[in-house]
Amino acid sequence: MKLKLLSAITAVLFLLLPVYTQAQTFAEQFKDDANVPLSYFLPGDVTYDESIPTPYEVLGFNIGEWHLRHDLGVRYLEAIAAASDRVTLHQYGRTHELRPLILLTITHPENQENIENIRERHVSLTNPQVSGNLDTSDMPAVVWLGYSVHGNEHSGANAALLSAYYYAAAQGIDDVLRETVILLDPSFNPDGQDRFVSWVNSHRNLNRLTADPRDREYNEPWPRSRTNHYWFDLNRDWMPLQHPESRGRLEMFHHWKPNVLTDHHEMGTNATYFFQPGIPSRNNPLTLERNFELTAKLAEYHAEYLDRFGQLYYTKESFDDFYVGKGSTYPDLNGTIGILFEQASSRGHIQESQHGLVPFPETIRNQFQTSLSTVSGTHALRTEFLDFLRTHYTQAITDARADAVRGYVFSAPHDPARIYHLLDILGRHQIQVYELGRNLSANDRNFEAGRDFIIPAEQPQYRLVRSLFETRTEFTDSLFYDVSTWSLPHAFNLNHAELGSRAFSSNLLGDAIDYENLSFPEGELIGGQSRYAYVFEWDGYYAPRALYDLQHSDVRTKVSNRSFTLPTTEGEREFAPGSIIVPVGIQDACSPEELFAKIRETARDNAISVYSVDTGLARGGIDLGSPSISTLQKPEVLLVTGNGVNVSEAGETWFQLDQRYNVPVTMVETDRFNSLDLSRYNTIVMPNGNYNGISQGARERLSSWISGGGVVIAYKGAASWLVRHDMASASFASRDSDDDNSPRAYADLASTRGAQVIGGSIFQTRLDLTHPLTYGYRNEHLSVFRNSTIFMEAPSNPYAAPIRYTDNPLISGYISSENLEMLPGTASVLVSGQGSGRVIMFADNPNFRAFWFGTNKLFANSLFFGSTISGASIER
Ligand SMILES: [Zn+2]
Repeated sequence: MKLKLLSAITAVLFLLLPVYTQAQTFAEQFKDDANVPLSYFLPGDVTYDESIPTPYEVLGFNIGEWHLRHDLGVRYLEAIAAASDRVTLHQYGRTHELRPLILLTITHPENQENIENIRERHVSLTNPQVSGNLDTSDMPAVVWLGYSVHGNEHSGANAALLSAYYYAAAQGIDDVLRETVILLDPSFNPDGQDRFVSWVNSHRNLNRLTADPRDREYNEPWPRSRTNHYWFDLNRDWMPLQHPESRGRLEMFHHWKPNVLTDHHEMGTNATYFFQPGIPSRNNPLTLERNFELTAKLAEYHAEYLDRFGQLYYTKESFDDFYVGKGSTYPDLNGTIGILFEQASSRGHIQESQHGLVPFPETIRNQFQTSLSTVSGTHALRTEFLDFLRTHYTQAITDARADAVRGYVFSAPHDPARIYHLLDILGRHQIQVYELGRNLSANDRNFEAGRDFIIPAEQPQYRLVRSLFETRTEFTDSLFYDVSTWSLPHAFNLNHAELGSRAFSSNLLGDAIDYENLSFPEGELIGGQSRYAYVFEWDGYYAPRALYDLQHSDVRTKVSNRSFTLPTTEGEREFAPGSIIVPVGIQDACSPEELFAKIRETARDNAISVYSVDTGLARGGIDLGSPSISTLQKPEVLLVTGNGVNVSEAGETWFQLDQRYNVPVTMVETDRFNSLDLSRYNTIVMPNGNYNGISQGARERLSSWISGGGVVIAYKGAASWLVRHDMASASFASRDSDDDNSPRAYADLASTRGAQVIGGSIFQTRLDLTHPLTYGYRNEHLSVFRNSTIFMEAPSNPYAAPIRYTDNPLISGYISSENLEMLPGTASVLVSGQGSGRVIMFADNPNFRAFWFGTNKLFANSLFFGSTISGASIER
């Protein structure tokens, strides 16, 4: 009762206050009493169906009063779906932490009865073979409202409930409901969301809120909650698709092929509000111009809705639509208008800013308003969007026919698992791939019919195919919000070639890949039970997982540093350096029968071929008792995390160990590291970071741990920290300082400096194929991904840098000419020795975003073979 009275008073107050002081007054009031009536958010020009539950009725608090837990949001949306014949709810997946991922379909009840037909007809617009016959004048437009992919950008996930309530309960909006289908995804990242909610709610004052930015509520601890469970930015995973959130979402995206998709974010507290269009010179060149025109048309609606509240906003000056793994860009390459929204964050319940107080409800209101403006604009421009979706796909066929590249062939002949993961990604993007129908030579490589693969450019997903397979070194802008390239043939280290019109012909296409039946390849044990040894090569992507699997069962394992030839049941076979040997006679953790069963299972599950051999006497190369064969130790891994450590690289390391190799990892914060006994670990991974928090005592302990035989795997800043503190040797080159003092325009400052950033580009390295860090590679060239300007000079010890940049290293992406000059001959990976230990330094990240399958093995080799590297250390 008291609540209702208050709401009424508040509502009256709003009507009386002039617009320019309204926000401030509301904020002051909110600070003392966080009860915000629903009327604060809702348009007052319609009435609301009382049979639809309000958020308060289900949650027990008002929107904006507390931060919303995901499970409560789901409970509310379930209640709406149960109460409204306009709304259905579908669970499309679960997060890593098993939170449900849901999508509401909201439309007129008459459409609901016919929804599958509406969907099928809509999706037919993307099929150029039939789309010409479709009349768009009576088709609903499809708009996807998507919220809070970053967990600590929480206004969107709360606005989602208001959008659902509005479209379920508002009366007099029949036209909109009849002519649009609204797909509402309340949270793209529930795991991150709940990490954030838990933090801010648990620090919230219960009576009077504090707006002081120094308060704990506004200062989350490392790793914060932008990311998902493994600390991945899900707004970079729309293309790599290595997480269940993105996989489920993308399936629904292609199930519906919406006309518009929104992506509601937050930015710094002192900012205003941003909506696209973004920076025009940084648009993805493969996106059709018409897409940007429609984005701009829609922007007029956002402006109109925000103008009513005196809300400041801007367009075109930040953010871009270049990297295809982002939520506002991926749609663009699929005929959908992707819209990025960025709201100044309260990052808690209310925070001081340059514009005065930023109360959480106000941020929610803005996101709700631009949800309304998006639906309203899409409805008003309905046929333009529908016609554009059709044009996008017919134009794709026309443009593909005019493209100099007509197809792409690729192979990874020794590694079926890597091919499987690539096909898995391509299938999820609805890209048509074929088995190669005839043998082919291209780009100095031989491709085999029946074994290798081919992608024709001419297909509805032409733009995406090109985006995923092309290399690009020319750009209209030298600044990028994110990476400037993501070429999959390089990320997957494939043998590959582009086919021009003379090389390509449709009779190269064999059977189409049947994605419905794509399954993980099974490996096998060749030759049955052995009385002597089992051997497997290191090419397979999951060979490291197989090795760890054996080590985990206390099976003794060895690695060969030379090649050898032995008889197998398939004839004589040469095993490459890096082959893993499991001698039968030296095991005491299991009987020969148990070992046989274990090996057979390991081979099958890890897509590798294991050979049974009956003798140690080689027909060529070394014998199996050779001193050139090293005994392996099971990695006991410590990952250093915490303040000053790069969250993404730490997360990528964790993901690689846990998800890909089944290796458990202990993660400690830098402050705990200071008092840690290191003796139970043999491998320490240090991601890029400043490590300022590590004490002198801890440095001394780390140094003697290395001398005693420990292996440190250190990326970028961690490598230079180790060098600075005398635990590793390396020289870091820096560019000669620019001594040009001639005056420059202040307006150019950001772009001149920004042009020297390497946001993410692909470079060629040359491998020393005899080095343990390159086992499993057969080609001396390897593409690596670089997103830093750390240059490690070639060492005086010629054996210490097994992976170096070639003389002409740029393969794809942006780099300034000054930086490019620095790169040739420098080391991508460098080994430094101290006592009997090793420090393996990476200038580049081998596990980038979990889709650089081609360089993951460099990390695996450091992990499993690091301690076997001898004589490679730099003289100290
Ligand atoms: Zn964001």
